[in-house]
Amino acid sequence: MTLHKGAPARPGHPVNPFYGEADPIGGMTESPPRHTLPDGPLAPHTAYQYVHDELMLDGNARLNLATFVTTWMEPQASALMAECRDKNMIDKDEYPRTAELERRCVAMLADLWHAPDPAAAVGCSTTGSSEACMLAGMAFKRRWSRAADRTGARPNLVMGANVQVCWEKFCTFWEVEARQVPMEGDRYHLDPQAAADLCDENTIGVVAILGSTFDGSYEPVAEVCAALDALQERTGLDIPVHIDGASGGMVAPFLDPDLTWDFRIPRVSSINTSGHKYGLVYPGVGWALWRDATMLPEELVFRVNYLGGDLPTFALNFSRPGAQVVAQYYTFLRLGREGYRAVQQVTRDVATSLASRIGALGDFTLLTHGDELPVFAFTTAPDTTVFDVFDVSRRLKERGWLVPAYTFPPHREDLSVLRVVCRNGFSHDLADLFLDDLEQLLPELRAQPCPLQRPARKATAFHH
Ligand SMILES: *Cc1c(COP(=O)(O)O)cnc(C)c1O
Repeated sequence: MTLHKGAPARPGHPVNPFYGEADPIGGMTESPPRHTLPDGPLAPHTAYQYVHDELMLDGNARLNLATFVTTWMEPQASALMAECRDKNMIDKDEYPRTAELERRCVAMLADLWHAPDPAAAVGCSTTGSSEACMLAGMAFKRRWSRAADRTGARPNLVMGANVQVCWEKFCTFWEVEARQVPMEGDRYHLDPQAAADLCDENTIGVVAILGSTFDGSYEPVAEVCAALDALQERTGLDIPVHIDGASGGMVAPFLDPDLTWDFRIPRVSSINTSGHKYGLVYPGVGWALWRDATMLPEELVFRVNYLGGDLPTFALNFSRPGAQVVAQYYTFLRLGREGYRAVQQVTRDVATSLASRIGALGDFTLLTHGDELPVFAFTTAPDTTVFDVFDVSRRLKERGWLVPAYTFPPHREDLSVLRVVCRNGFSHDLADLFLDDLEQLLPELRAQPCPLQRPARKATAFHH
């Protein structure tokens, strides 16, 4: 989480009787301090009011087109989550049914992602894709170090420059060299041959993303694997592939059943997804799966017997809420394949239709069209010179819409884009309202003398 600094103590403000003096416990005339622990308790309604009032200043999550994370669930899901929020996921022995629902979710995902032998696949829930990616990266690193004498060798991981920040974290935290294939011209994600060319005997694996957080495009997984097959034929190097399916892992199986990206490809050893993105569950839950137990070195798996059970676990955290896992199982049961397909199809339809209408305005150039992930990126058209994407982002915020603007990674730092993430709950109706707002802003933007604020700002509210 954000690395925060402390703050000097500040006195409270006077408060009127509606807040404070009527408080039977605190009997206060001053608001409680905000940067030191208050000396005494407050009545629950007073404390609630303070917290509630401050949170009014947060944005409206449903209008947040920056995030991939679920912002709407059914009341039944919320009820189940409330029923489970006192259950610690790690206490497998105390809460055997919650543990069983987690196991079933892993089995369902192994089947969904075409594990050749679903009974041999292994997997676990995590707090999100970031933790899942750390686990997958650790398994890669351990397999590499066990395969030969690596004394003095420095491991590396090959990926596109468009990877989500969790892969840079993995490389920094676990001291692995991040070998990134830069963007080139109109190619905004991993190039198969360039990836294979970066591999050597110290490459622990290649990461391919389904799909890219920068523009929603799917990386060419099958082609990456084919380039690595050719590499193996030439050199004998057998490089495993991890698929970061944070978003696409729960989109492609339903909308692109013929796209081969998962365990159908023998070189794919592990896959992650965020249950809290297109898995349609509130944050935070993710999933990590390995094709079979040989892909996950046994010494990374812990068996903790002091909780009463002896179930194997693979995780960075110890305690974790059980509610999200239960909500994932509920959503799997509630929607089934057909339900997921219908939800994701509507979301993709909203994305493709909104993208094409934005393209038709004339002020913008689309980089992607929302037809892979229901996400698209666009920039200002070549002859649009008086405003830029940062101006558009700032003006949309005045209407409550959060649409991030940001620059691309090496070698396309010259390119700045806006990105719209369509999610369940962003309906065709809301998309119409969004377009109306954008159209109303355009005359003012076109009348600007030049882009404002540049180049002070590099990004607004970019969420991976
Ligand atoms: C969101 C995302 C992540 C990180 O996932 P969290 O669930 O937010 O931890 C990793 N990779 C990709 C491609 C993502 O889109």
